[in-house]
Amino acid sequence: MLAGKTAVITGSTSGIGLGYARALAEQGANIMINGFGDADAIEKERKGIETDFGVKCIYSPADMTKPDEIHAMIHTAANTFGSVDILVNNAGIQHVEAIEHFPVEKWDAIIAINLSSAFHTIRTAVPYMRKAGWGRIINTASAHALVASPFKAAYVSAKHGIAGLTKTVALETAENNITVNAICPGYVWTPLVEKQIPDTMKARNMTEEQVKKDVLLEAQPTKEFVTIEQVAGLAVFLCTDTAASITGSLLPMDGGWTAQ
Ligand code: NAD
Repeated sequence: MLAGKTAVITGSTSGIGLGYARALAEQGANIMINGFGDADAIEKERKGIETDFGVKCIYSPADMTKPDEIHAMIHTAANTFGSVDILVNNAGIQHVEAIEHFPVEKWDAIIAINLSSAFHTIRTAVPYMRKAGWGRIINTASAHALVASPFKAAYVSAKHGIAGLTKTVALETAENNITVNAICPGYVWTPLVEKQIPDTMKARNMTEEQVKKDVLLEAQPTKEFVTIEQVAGLAVFLCTDTAASITGSLLPMDGGWTAQ
């Protein structure tokens, strides 16, 4: 379905991003992965995508806090593969702390990685999409783009910001066969969620089991974590012709969380 197309996925060395990369590769797209981690592990994932799906896959170490590196990353993908047809903005970090103690450097990093990096990838990629006459921009937002939770000031602000960016760029590209949407997952079991458990235990004075049951899955009426495969499957659907009229949408996949 996506043979000959190129997909750039930020923050795809683990978790949901790696899930998108593999799902888009399965449909035939050439892939650029990005993110941090152990060099050998990243190389293994990169090679695995090529051998498992018979596509080309390159890795960019661009730091999503650095506009120049982001700009160069998009141009590298276009120069290597001919264009950037699918852009998935997915890199993200979390910090859980009360507002009066929230570290300023954590606020700045979360706004940079979870929000501003998408501005920089999009502004660089859109000209390629306009030239090709086709494009798909998929932003990983969150249920936290629609509702808030305490102790996540920067994350909730960044995710509400990405919702606004999604709608704005959708309007600007609506006549160019480019769609721009945000997927809003509830809790997905990934390293990002696993890592926030100790801080949430501290902030709420709870045990690990209490955090999982009373904070995480308490929000989700299904009482199940969303899976990486489900999120990636929605991204693949957004790349189909059937989804051509879905643009500027914030699409919850949250086990009913934001229906409440
Ligand atoms: P993860 O920690 O598994 O993956 C995050 C990725 O971002 C990694 O590849 C990491 O290397 C990369 N990254 C972090 N800082 C970076 C930087 N400065 N430059 C480049 N890459 C960087 O987490 P995940 O849960 O897969 O999260 C992916 C996205 O999904 C995030 O935007 C997150 O907010 C969102 N999300 C996650 C959940 C969840 O429950 N896991 C729910 C809703 C939304």
